[in-house]
Amino acid sequence: MARLYESRKRVLVTGGAGFLGSHLTDKLLSQGHEVLCADNLFTGSKRNIDHLHNEPRFEFIRHDITLPLFVEVDEIYNLACPASPIHYQHDPVQTTKTSVHGAINMLGLAKRLKCRILQASTSEVYGDPTVHPQTENYWGNVNPIGLRSCYDEGKRCAETLFFDYHRQHGLDVKVARIFNTYGPRMHQADGRVVSNFVMQALRDKPITLYGTGKQTRSFCYVDDLIEGLVRLMESPSGFIGPVNLGNPDEFSIKELALEILRQTNSRSELQFLPLPADDPKQRRPDIALAKSVLNWQPVVPLADGLLPTIAHFTSLIRNISAQTFAASKIAIEASTKSESPEWIPENRASDDTHDPRKQAD
Ligand code: NAD
Ligand code: UDP
Ligand code: UDP
Repeated sequence: MARLYESRKRVLVTGGAGFLGSHLTDKLLSQGHEVLCADNLFTGSKRNIDHLHNEPRFEFIRHDITLPLFVEVDEIYNLACPASPIHYQHDPVQTTKTSVHGAINMLGLAKRLKCRILQASTSEVYGDPTVHPQTENYWGNVNPIGLRSCYDEGKRCAETLFFDYHRQHGLDVKVARIFNTYGPRMHQADGRVVSNFVMQALRDKPITLYGTGKQTRSFCYVDDLIEGLVRLMESPSGFIGPVNLGNPDEFSIKELALEILRQTNSRSELQFLPLPADDPKQRRPDIALAKSVLNWQPVVPLADGLLPTIAHFTSLIRNISAQTFAASKIAIEASTKSESPEWIPENRASDDTHDPRKQAD
């Protein structure tokens, strides 16, 4: 849908090649806007935006938001930041820089352009919460020096910056606190619970339950989340947030595992492993604010949202197998050269690696 030029906005999406950013980009383009995606491809992938190759209203720039950015846009969604624990703990200093220096640069850009800017914050600002469900006025229970702190405290500082740019410079800001979101285009090796369990179930490998599996999360399907973000951006300028965006249906991690096993007809067994440090015991958003101000609430139940998610990972596995088969054929033809050639995907450490830098393309 192409809009009339006057009502078409030029929107900057930082982190636009990531999981959420690429879905947001699709949504904005479908509304007729132009999208400029700025991403350093640390955890994102060109594959996520490949389908936009011939879209004249879409533009990609490879850029790290810890560095200044000079572009002309009407609106900014700041999503750039690794989101899964193994990715953000890979280079924790860079994670804090992305949240803090990145926020300063994007806020400086919004200040020069006098444009609206939305921050993708997170339920992690509540840490391991002592209030349940979490309301926006709860200040959280966060370890400032732990393994998750680079992400949690970075995001908390970014919220502070957004509010200070608003108070000090009158900037039009919006802050969304996003709870666990899942769906197609999640990275297969990001270590998050949905991607891990689905990949394990589809391969009949053990399902890795950390701790007792009794800890809880609330899972929001990506389409619902994106709708919430866009509604927040379009809300009246007096409404800043922070506002919780997530699905209030709460599940134990074991319940999630059993549902995924059911939907995939998997023969995988449950394997109990130690709980990572500072892993929150329970998490569920109170979404009363989003309901009343944005008239928003999720509509996709977990069982329904898992269907397209499982389909996504199934097709990923098929592609990996096809590539492995093609590489094996070449390997057989060159069989005398090496017993375990590094260039066969199966033999590469990067295939299931948790080093995200090796996966950026
Ligand atoms: P993702 O890792 O798929 O996407 C993040 C994107 O940011 C990637 O494309 C990555 O390459 C890019 N990026 C990272 N550092 C950058 C930098 N310095 N400069 C430019 N680009 C950079 O993660 P996601 O799940 O799509 O998360 C998007 C945003 O939403 C993040 O800010 C995250 O904190 C927030 N969030 C996500 C969830 C969730 O469940 N998915 C929950 C809470 C908050
Ligand atoms: N900035 C940017 N693009 C712009 C304007 C500013 O990246 O179009 C960056 C700039 O590098 C600066 C940061 O945003 O470091 C904060 O800008 P601000 O105007 O708030 O502060 P100052 O420039 O006074 O440090
Ligand atoms: N988890 C798990 N097995 C896995 C991955 C995660 O049991 O293979 C648990 C993890 O300990 C946490 C929950 O699932 O309690 C959600 O983890 P995720 O990393 O997806 O998100 P976050 O902890 O940031 O909410």
